[in-house]
Amino acid sequence: MGDFRDNFRKVVPYVPGEQPKKKVIKLNTNENPYPPSNKVNEIIKSFDNNKNKLYPDPDCTILRDSIAKRYGFDEKNVFVGVGSDDVLSVAFLSFFNSDKEVLFPDITYSFYSVWADLYNIKYRQVKVNDDFTINKEDYYSDNGGIVIANPNAPTAICEPLEFIEDILKNNTDSVVIVDEAYIDFGGVSAVELIRKYENLLVVQTFSKSRSLAGMRIGFAIGNEELIKEMNDVKFSINSYTLNQVSLVSGVACIEDEEYFNETVEKIVNTRERTKEELKNLGFTFTDSKTNFIFATHKDLFAKFIFEELKKKDIFVRYFSLPRIDNYLRITIGTDEEMDELIASLKEIIK
Ligand code: PMP
Repeated sequence: MGDFRDNFRKVVPYVPGEQPKKKVIKLNTNENPYPPSNKVNEIIKSFDNNKNKLYPDPDCTILRDSIAKRYGFDEKNVFVGVGSDDVLSVAFLSFFNSDKEVLFPDITYSFYSVWADLYNIKYRQVKVNDDFTINKEDYYSDNGGIVIANPNAPTAICEPLEFIEDILKNNTDSVVIVDEAYIDFGGVSAVELIRKYENLLVVQTFSKSRSLAGMRIGFAIGNEELIKEMNDVKFSINSYTLNQVSLVSGVACIEDEEYFNETVEKIVNTRERTKEELKNLGFTFTDSKTNFIFATHKDLFAKFIFEELKKKDIFVRYFSLPRIDNYLRITIGTDEEMDELIASLKEIIK
């Protein structure tokens, strides 16, 4: 006789950063400290709730149209999902179905290995250098797919477009996913390369640069064939992914390019100022092109600083993982929040 427990899938899940119940200075999940665009507020206020009695458009047409126009593509080149986590998960399931290993860096977004395990995808985590940079040559070998977060997380390092193109030139036989969750904070997007490389899928999100983490909107841009494949998989799991309010909010958000540019610029300025302050306190860090800084201190252990900050109601992210367990990932908040962080760090360090 068996036990029903023997048939459990027993996955090891991804652990998201803490969402505290009380009010804290929250620099632990790379959210945007600024509110969503006013255009999003207006559309939500005027939303006719009666529409919610109907299912939303399963094709998410208005939002795909809007994203396609913003990035200069056709709606057939755009897939949308419930956050880029959903988009990436569908992409893994759609494209990684080979006997060969899927390759991604050993230090990167830790959800990749979780999806690969869940879907029984063979994979190899390729070691990054001691300075956390990625060797593009490591991705020239025969593979079942490639996933590169650019900028990478949690390292915050952004590679130039030539780097991504070089990986594409050397990989025409498998799908290359470039996860650009943080690209708007200073990187150059690989979307234009989609016109040249039919195996490239670029994934982005509304959660960071567009202040809509709570709305859960992510998207992918790629060759029409890739998008069709992803839709086939999506329609085999759940046809109605984005709800009515998210669809119209996403469109309103895309329409406010001015606010998007303004908030991104503020975060970049705050980031650069915070780098100077952290340097003066004895921290070193990679040259972040994201909305977070990945820092280590010359004398104090990262875990100690993390715990001391938490006592002061300042939450940053600490990963108890090989090679990065003496680093903190600090999200860029408002100037006032970063001032409080710096003041608290001064107290902890003295
Ligand atoms: N990719 C990377 C590299 C991330 O850091 C995150 C945020 N945790 C995501 C994707 C997913 O973000 P979301 O699902 O909110 O779009």
